[in-house]
Amino acid sequence: MIDHSLFENTGTAFTLKSDSELERAYFLFKMISSQPLVRIGTAATNFALKANLPVEGLIRSTVFDHFCGGVSEDDCLSVIDKLYTKSVSSVLDYSVEGKETTDQFDGALEKILKIIRFCDERDAMPIVVFKPTGFGRFHLYQKKTEGVDFTIEEQEEWDRVVARFDAVCKLAKEKDVEVLIDGEESWMQDAADDLVEDMMRLYNTDKTIVYNTLQTYRWDRLDYLKALHERAKKEGFKIGIKIVRGAYMEKERSRSDEKGYRSPICETKITTDNNFNSALSYILENLNDISIFIGTHNEESCYLAMELMEKFNISRQDNSIWFGQLYGMSDHISFNLAALGYNVAKYIPFGPVKDVMPYLIRRAEENTSVAGQTSRELALLKSEKRRRKV
Ligand SMILES: Cc1cc2nc3c(=O)[nH]c(=O)nc-3n(C[C@H](O)[C@H](O)[C@H](O)COP(=O)(O)OP(=O)(O)OC[C@H]3O[C@@H](n4cnc5c(N)ncnc54)[C@H](O)[C@@H]3O)c2cc1C
Repeated sequence: MIDHSLFENTGTAFTLKSDSELERAYFLFKMISSQPLVRIGTAATNFALKANLPVEGLIRSTVFDHFCGGVSEDDCLSVIDKLYTKSVSSVLDYSVEGKETTDQFDGALEKILKIIRFCDERDAMPIVVFKPTGFGRFHLYQKKTEGVDFTIEEQEEWDRVVARFDAVCKLAKEKDVEVLIDGEESWMQDAADDLVEDMMRLYNTDKTIVYNTLQTYRWDRLDYLKALHERAKKEGFKIGIKIVRGAYMEKERSRSDEKGYRSPICETKITTDNNFNSALSYILENLNDISIFIGTHNEESCYLAMELMEKFNISRQDNSIWFGQLYGMSDHISFNLAALGYNVAKYIPFGPVKDVMPYLIRRAEENTSVAGQTSRELALLKSEKRRRKV
């Protein structure tokens, strides 16, 4: 039986935080917990950055340093080394979003290839990640998902997207580094899914290198997983799945409302949770064929995974199971799991302050809107402050 108070150990959770870092984290979550403050702060920051006002220093010393590893991959090295002293691995996440030109996509490709070479030299970095729209225009994925024919130029553009995916997966296979490919909005995701599946076919022959993302807030994903599993068994390739609940719920709902189609999102949180649990169980029961990266801040989901591992006699160090949280969030889960010997990795976002802003704003909004998340972080920080005083 798994003890459901394991994550309460704040001494382990915040072992790497100095007293002043603990205070800063507390102050930050306190600010984020106020919805009006986040709304005003977001608007003011966007305005200040657009108007070139000197606010980067302020952003860096507050939200940026809490949620990001640095501006460049080299900046992140000290964070990566520090986390690894507590057996927590790192997944460098080049979090620059909303880019639309060939040069920018090629630039992102070079970044990821460089990170894979970095990984080759460091045990602390066994995994890399990228977003489909980091390598190609959203509209192109959408058109392909909708089954609309490409023009000749678009087909050439798409071929370059495929070549970028292939370059990453090929080098990753050569260097034995695993590749997570993020999931995005449903109206472009089919094209990404098909492309990732092709990469699995090519590179997951003897072991899992390539992982697609399963967003369980979508009610159709369990069927998708089972169908993918059937194809993989028939054709003889392994599957990698990063399982998450999904980050674009509001956007998905307002688009389906506006356009009048059935929302792809589960109607309630409980349905999403059940879907998550079913997919988790399905994968752990089929671990010979499917590797899993469990991306969640939900404590119950982590306890369930630990229980299922125990039930199916799966070793904590089994390299086909990873737990993952975002840097700056849910350290109580990451550090306690790692201390118990589970495989744990933190996503470490990095990039120029201005370019990382959409990511930071999402984190602030998520912490404001996800019921209980911020109050949980605050309660744990408070309890650790109290423990240190004693
Ligand atoms: C390491 C890592 C990688 C991630 N990668 C991705 C990714 O590639 N793509 C992506 O989309 N997201 C990604 N996420 C974000 C993730 O999808 C969730 O948004 C976030 O983790 C919150 O969910 P939770 O499981 O941690 O916690 P919880 O607080 O238990 O769940 C919150 C989530 O439940 C769902 N939900 C909330 N209310 C409802 C409702 N009324 N009806 C139906 N569903 C509801 C939403 O998905 C919401 O985000 C990642 C998260 C982590 C930690």
